[in-house]
Amino acid sequence: MNLILLGPPGAGKGTQSERLMDAYDLVQLSTGEMLRQETKLKSKLGDEAKVLMDAGKLVPDDLIIAMISGRIDDTKGAGVILDGFPRTTAQAEVLDQMLVDKGMQLDRVIQIEIPEPEVIARLTGRFSCAKCGTGYHEVFNKPKVAEICDKCGSKEFVRRSDDNVETARSRLRAYHEQTAPILPYYEAAGRLSTVDGMGGVDQVFARIKEIVEGA
Ligand code: AMP
Repeated sequence: MNLILLGPPGAGKGTQSERLMDAYDLVQLSTGEMLRQETKLKSKLGDEAKVLMDAGKLVPDDLIIAMISGRIDDTKGAGVILDGFPRTTAQAEVLDQMLVDKGMQLDRVIQIEIPEPEVIARLTGRFSCAKCGTGYHEVFNKPKVAEICDKCGSKEFVRRSDDNVETARSRLRAYHEQTAPILPYYEAAGRLSTVDGMGGVDQVFARIKEIVEGA
C-alpha cells in the first residue's frame, strides 16, 4: 500500500505517519526530514535548503525530485507513506510518472484539514525527541512523564528552527499558494480523501484508518 499525506504544516502528517507505519508496516518518506538530515550533515543540498526552510519557502522541485526518487528505490518494494511530498503540481506530475516507472501504484491521497489559527498554535509548541524523533507538543501532546520521551526514555528534546510564528506564516502561505492546488489534481483522479485533523491523535488516526481500510 502506498499513501500520500497532504495538509498544511502542523496538520499532523508526521504524527499520523508514525501511527500508519506501526499499524500497516509501511516506510515513512518525509522530504522535510531528509532535508533536515542534509542540513545536519552540512552537505551542499543541506546548506542550500536551510536558507529556504528557515524562510518558510519551498526547496526547488528538481532538488526534491532527485532526492526522493533514490529513497523510494531504497525501500525495496515496501509500502510507503509520502509525508511532505509532493508539494507542488510539478512534483505531483513527476511522482505519477515515477510510480509508473517503478511499477508502483498510489492507493490513497489523504488530506488532513485543520483551521488556520490552529496551524500557528500547533507549530509554535512543537518539539521532538532528539534521539528517536518522536513528536510532541507543549499543550496538545505532552510526553506521559514530563521531560522523558514515551518511546525511548531519552531526556533530550529538540525544536525545529522553522517552528516559529514568522516562519510558520510563510509556510502556511507556501501551502496555500503552491501545495493546495494539487488537491483538485488528485480529486479529479478519484484518489483524494479528506479527514478532519482536529481532535486527539487517536481520534484522527481512527478516521484515517477507516479510509485506508476502505482503499
Ligand atoms: P516539513 O518537515 O514537511 O514541514 O518540511 C520542512 C521544510 O522543508 C518546508 O517548509 C520546505 O522548505 C522544505 N520541504 C519539505 N518537503 C518539500 C517539498 N516536497 N518541496 C519543497 N520543499 C520541501
